Amino acid sequence: MATTKVLVVEDEVNLLEAVKYNLGREGYTVLTASDGQQGWEFARAAEPDLVILDIMLPKLDGLEVCRMLRKQSDVPVLMLTAKTQDVDRVVGLEVGADDYVSKPFSMRELMARVRALLRRARTAQKRTDGAEREIVMSGDLEVDTASHVVRLGGLPLELKPREFQLLALLMSNKGRVLTRDHVLERLWGHDYIGDSRTVDVHIRWLREKIETDPATPRRIATVRGVGYRFEG
Ligand code: CA
Repeated sequence: MATTKVLVVEDEVNLLEAVKYNLGREGYTVLTASDGQQGWEFARAAEPDLVILDIMLPKLDGLEVCRMLRKQSDVPVLMLTAKTQDVDRVVGLEVGADDYVSKPFSMRELMARVRALLRRARTAQKRTDGAEREIVMSGDLEVDTASHVVRLGGLPLELKPREFQLLALLMSNKGRVLTRDHVLERLWGHDYIGDSRTVDVHIRWLREKIETDPATPRRIATVRGVGYRFEG
């Protein structure tokens, strides 16, 4: 079995070494980067299973690295934050991290968060590998969950990973109302600390891409006070 790869991006050498040591002791393969640019490059090249990302970094800050990462990957991101006021933005839609730990933190706490995030990611992965692996069609919209391709009117459509998962979930439950909480749990995991507005914003982004007129959506219907339904 391949080992689990964790990328740590932190410019404080002592902290970086301590985190690396502790992750290594837990059996993870550890990659390290000491600035945002290098972190971004390693994240793309090495495809880690989890990224621990400091906010204050030279060259590119952690928020920017996380935003860039989110455009092409749903790898779990754990942010290290020194300022508690940043927390809402960090795990919110603007940045898209999955969790955070405020400095100073104990290694025990950090390791517990790492384990929880990896567990959550594995559960989500199992779900998408399982029953939903199929081609779902609705009119001229086609979602291939095996090859991760969406086509609209025969042309491939660029979707971010979360948008793809959301569309696949909605379409495989065509005609059924999905509550925001259900969507949150399926896509972000039950211990996600953000709120259900996350779902609303992703629905809005998705509508902008798949609806002819996003203001009067015909594919994804809002069921007021409940959630969303994909119309057959
Ligand atoms: Ca730093």
